[in-house]
Amino acid sequence: LQQNQQPEGLRPVNLLQERNILPSTPVKAPIPNLHKDLQRLNSKSDVFRCTLTNIPQTQSLLNKAKLPLGLHLHPFRDLSQLPVVTSSTIVRCRSCRTYINPFVNFLDQRRWKCNLCYRVNDVPEEFMYNPVTRSYGEPHKRPEVQSATIEFIAPSEYMLRPPQPAVYLYVLDVSHNAVESGYLNTVCQSLLENLNVLPGDSRMRIGFITFDSTVHFYNLQEGLSQPQMMVVSDIEDIFIPTPDNLLVNLNESKELIEDLLRALPQMFSNTSETQSALGPALQAAFKLLSPTGGRASVFQTQLPSIGVGALKPREDPSQRSSVKDVQHLSPAIDFYKKLALDCSGQQIAVDLFLLNGQYSDLASLTCISKYSAGCIYYYPSYHHKHNPALMEKFEKEIKRYLTRKVGFEAVMRIRCTKGLAIHTFHGNFFVRSTDLLSLPNINPDAGFAVQMSIEENLTDVQLVSFQAALLYTSSKGERRIRVHTMCLPVVNSLADIYAGADVQAITCLLASMAVDRSILSSLSDARDALVNAVIDSLSTYRSAVLSQQQQQQPGVMCPASLQLFPLYVLSLLKQKAFRTGTNTRLDDRLFCMCEVKYQPVAYLMLMVHPSLYKVDNLSDEGCMHINEKTVPQPPILQLSVEKLSRDGAFLMDAGCVLFLWVGKNCGSHFVNQVLGVSNYSSIPQNMMQLPELDTAESQRTRAFISWLRDQRPFFPVLHVIKDESPLKANFLQNMVEDRTESALSYYEFLLHIQQQVNK
Ligand SMILES: [Zn+2]
Repeated sequence: LQQNQQPEGLRPVNLLQERNILPSTPVKAPIPNLHKDLQRLNSKSDVFRCTLTNIPQTQSLLNKAKLPLGLHLHPFRDLSQLPVVTSSTIVRCRSCRTYINPFVNFLDQRRWKCNLCYRVNDVPEEFMYNPVTRSYGEPHKRPEVQSATIEFIAPSEYMLRPPQPAVYLYVLDVSHNAVESGYLNTVCQSLLENLNVLPGDSRMRIGFITFDSTVHFYNLQEGLSQPQMMVVSDIEDIFIPTPDNLLVNLNESKELIEDLLRALPQMFSNTSETQSALGPALQAAFKLLSPTGGRASVFQTQLPSIGVGALKPREDPSQRSSVKDVQHLSPAIDFYKKLALDCSGQQIAVDLFLLNGQYSDLASLTCISKYSAGCIYYYPSYHHKHNPALMEKFEKEIKRYLTRKVGFEAVMRIRCTKGLAIHTFHGNFFVRSTDLLSLPNINPDAGFAVQMSIEENLTDVQLVSFQAALLYTSSKGERRIRVHTMCLPVVNSLADIYAGADVQAITCLLASMAVDRSILSSLSDARDALVNAVIDSLSTYRSAVLSQQQQQQPGVMCPASLQLFPLYVLSLLKQKAFRTGTNTRLDDRLFCMCEVKYQPVAYLMLMVHPSLYKVDNLSDEGCMHINEKTVPQPPILQLSVEKLSRDGAFLMDAGCVLFLWVGKNCGSHFVNQVLGVSNYSSIPQNMMQLPELDTAESQRTRAFISWLRDQRPFFPVLHVIKDESPLKANFLQNMVEDRTESALSYYEFLLHIQQQVNK
């Protein structure tokens, strides 16, 4: 560390005085305080990120700092560049199995010292040759030690069985409710359009199950003139009517599959079946996929009502605005968790698409995906006619889902330097042993987090490293290992810990911890813990870091690195997951909790603390040029109605939703040239799309919105909000700095913090 100069992260900020702390450009992850040669090689913050970029030397120092130590990972994200290495020997430490990486030490040409366990290892002969430079004798120039993110093609010892083919099973609710929603058409249409681009090779297999009060299988054997539907009505003892020909080779049975996809949306159009035997349908899916593993995509539109796994309505609508503790956050039955663990054991991941009009007990249902490394999609009140914007969202997201890359039969291990230990994991997976996550599927949009403790003092070391290794089978049948390594400095003072704090990483980790606490203890405990994290860390900073003179200053003193911490925690408290006193449906709350647990930091932060922009006067000043398009870059504004003006228009990016608020006196220019109507009163209620007008203003606004949408794998719906819009409340809910009936304003929250810190 540079001793003479106070790091920027440690600059004291008085939050009660400084009212403009929110930067006008997106907050970036702090850069670890490493020598520039090491930093140049370090993993990127969008893949691997630590809450404390300066690692405390001891657990007692960490305890004093009152900040959580943990990592965020987005291990399989789409990358624009990825070095891929094919070599018959993958060089790993003989003692701790760490992969050779940029942060090892070469003692000489022939020996390297492991940066995790310090064992000295021999450099194998093969490693002496560098395939990139085609030169011999420079092992430190190999790609493995020049890139923190790398992928190996794994030799045969990395597989327990031949690489499995890509296998996709679609499990579709066809009850009256499901047919009424019209989702089937969208799914089948999207599958038809993307059948040729599903990830896989010539061995790819595909199958379908539909269900209402019974479970229906489809024989798609090559040579049949049309698909044969087989109904199993004994749902108490589900069996597979014909084990072959249900999961068929896509290429061989393509015509039959296409026939089925064209027929399915009409097949049940006159159904009077209201029951939903989801449990038995999932059991059938498990049996069908067990021999190979694969991906089950389950589409469900209501509470499962019959057979195993049936659930009862538990939500009391009168409690939706309760200020007291919320009930029924944990699963009602363990059927879905148990089945998920069975699935995990057979390399089956279950993805859940819930398109429900009414309470469907997400707390219970999501377990099927949580423990099988699946993903969860939620479209409340989905209807193809009444809710066209949600349909567009569903179309876009299902397309991404079907075409994004996928890894099968995966495991991920996270190693850290001796002395550090991982004790809690967050995300969707099953923990097989202390540091091994079982991931039947790995998708490029999944995030993970871990909490760590310091078991042995790091007194003798200046640097520690973290390495995540993801072993998976690609959709082309290759066994691959993607490895990310991050290196961070060790410090021995509280000041240095605060100087390196990553406020967004801390906020997201606390959010995951708060979800666990809400479920295991209570929502009020979780909320208290969030507030206490702010109070405790700022108290310590005040008493242990600030000088006597600085301590005398009135206000809320905070290191610059944490200046957004109170604001972010207040935002968390106002999130659907954790808020009280505001009408919140139980399933909405549960879904928000799921997102907290598996969204990577960048996307989660947008949901926690949306970005607000003024958009009625977008200009080309400071714009970006992407794909020959000019994309305006307006400054980010604070989330307070004070920042709005009646004569303007403002866009709020809340991650999964965009709000375009139009002031009552908004200039007719914007109303005409962007919204395409003559005046404010002609803006339609429920407007959800911007017309494609041939005006500079329209082009700028649409370019900005589509650029925002392109930054994330999910599709945010746009709502145009007028003063009298019913959705105005949702928009204002995100104005986290303002006071609401049931929640403090940012200023009040700071006063509360001040009171507690000065106690
Ligand atoms: Zn080692």
